[in-house]
Amino acid sequence: MNRQELADKFVKIMEETYPDAVCSLECEDPLQLLISVQLAAQCTDARVNIVTRTLFPKYPDVYAYANADLHELEQDIKPTGFYHNKAKNIIGCCRRLIDVYGGKVPDTMEDLLSLPGVGRKTANLILGDVFHKGGMVIDTHAKRILKRVGLTKETDPTKVEFDVETLIPREKQSDFCHRLVIHGRELCDARKPKCELCPAREICEEVRS
Ligand code: SF4
Repeated sequence: MNRQELADKFVKIMEETYPDAVCSLECEDPLQLLISVQLAAQCTDARVNIVTRTLFPKYPDVYAYANADLHELEQDIKPTGFYHNKAKNIIGCCRRLIDVYGGKVPDTMEDLLSLPGVGRKTANLILGDVFHKGGMVIDTHAKRILKRVGLTKETDPTKVEFDVETLIPREKQSDFCHRLVIHGRELCDARKPKCELCPAREICEEVRS
């Protein structure tokens, strides 16, 4: 089986196993998603959701973040960890959104990457979930699973993204990556994968090798 055939089969198995894959961050608009993803660095989505339930009503728009008191915002997001950097980036990001993009979240990789605190993972998530342009979101789950299954030998997230993106149809990339997160949590655990229960065990290189 070549890599394209492996990718096609694995995407189909993920679709059948996790038909309702959605982003687990609770957001109602592009700005909220942008803030949530920044908070989710080195933090669980569940904890981010707890924090944003009070954060979002307190900061209702891009101007509220741009004009926020740094120390106060730090305290508001403290439970998500790395709060000094995250608060600084959120304020800087929202100021740039106002100064350059009319207060709106931009829709190209290049523009998204120009925002403080936004890397390729965040940009791809926004491009896929908000603008429906697709994008491979290579988080810790995607990186681990794609390597185990045999779709890449790379370990650097950007290299994994470039290595795999041509194998997955663009319109399927966002949902596929959401499914990988669920698969990583439920079966393909970092330390103890439950391969005996996994619907991909017939094609997975980790099991076959
Ligand atoms: S067979 Fe095991 S290693 Fe392969 S995808 Fe399934 S759980 Fe992960």
